[in-house]
Amino acid sequence: MFEIVFLGTSASAPSVHRGLSAQVVMHNEYRFLIDCGEGTQRQILQSGLGFKRLERILITHGHLDHIYGLGGLVSTFLRWETIERLEIWAGRWALDRIYDLLYGVALKGAHAPFPLELHEVKPGRLLEDESFSLSAFPVEHRGADSFGYLFEEKSHRPFLAERAAVLGVPAGPIRRDLVAGLAVTLPDGRRVGPEEVLGPAQTGTRLVHIGDCGNTQGLAEVVGAADALTIEATYLEDEAEMARDFGHLTAAGAARLARAAGVKQLYLTHLSRRYRERDILDEAQRIFPATIVARDFDHYVVSKDRDKEKEKEKGKKTAAAT
Ligand SMILES: [Zn+2]
Ligand SMILES: [Zn+2]
Repeated sequence: MFEIVFLGTSASAPSVHRGLSAQVVMHNEYRFLIDCGEGTQRQILQSGLGFKRLERILITHGHLDHIYGLGGLVSTFLRWETIERLEIWAGRWALDRIYDLLYGVALKGAHAPFPLELHEVKPGRLLEDESFSLSAFPVEHRGADSFGYLFEEKSHRPFLAERAAVLGVPAGPIRRDLVAGLAVTLPDGRRVGPEEVLGPAQTGTRLVHIGDCGNTQGLAEVVGAADALTIEATYLEDEAEMARDFGHLTAAGAARLARAAGVKQLYLTHLSRRYRERDILDEAQRIFPATIVARDFDHYVVSKDRDKEKEKEKGKKTAAAT
């Protein structure tokens, strides 16, 4: 299961109701801030998430509406907030710009009092633990080195507690061994194999985040049948030519990708101030009905369990939005 909290859903410049690009993806103890537009630190506070464990930042690309908040965020970490470390992951072009922003302006010769690591993103696996993996893949947008991110839970075989009880398997380390795929000997000498108490393998939840994107060719295979896809929808189809010129998608273009990939749920973000949310939603839903246009502070659970997915919590609205 993953959770996503949208912190900023506006394109290029903020609006009264929408901040600049930023969202947090959570899984177990992990928190990933994806993009950090200007004003993100205040959005983090307002969302109730706070700065705790916010140690990994993934950047989709180096345009200012996605990185300018890093200067302010790091500045706060330097003076007032205690964090253990900070990793910033970005493509080469974005990383050079972030380096200038942090070392040329925010730090200006000073040393960060915590490990501050800038990592270059290359396509492929970035991180893996026993329950999930995080990978990056290239995305076409204006400028170089744009990336999308794939969060993928590992498949697992559920432990069938009722079967285990019938077989007389006691709780404790014996069960752990069975879950780990090992055969065990019960106290009464009987042997029990893992296949007797483990159900069929269940594929893990997949969440794909794509930032700004000018061309979806080839992305359907990468996105696959993700449980959720978050992607930009800056334009409407009647300005498709302008969308192409600026390396962006229309709502219809994003919906066509979701349909081709066979995703379960589509979340649209990065909205232009020139359009009404309703028009973006209508255009996308005509092609892909399971579309939601994200608002700042929306909080969604992405899970194989459809009921859980429906437990959408509308986040706290800003004073400005209400
Ligand atoms: Zn942008
Ligand atoms: Zn951009």
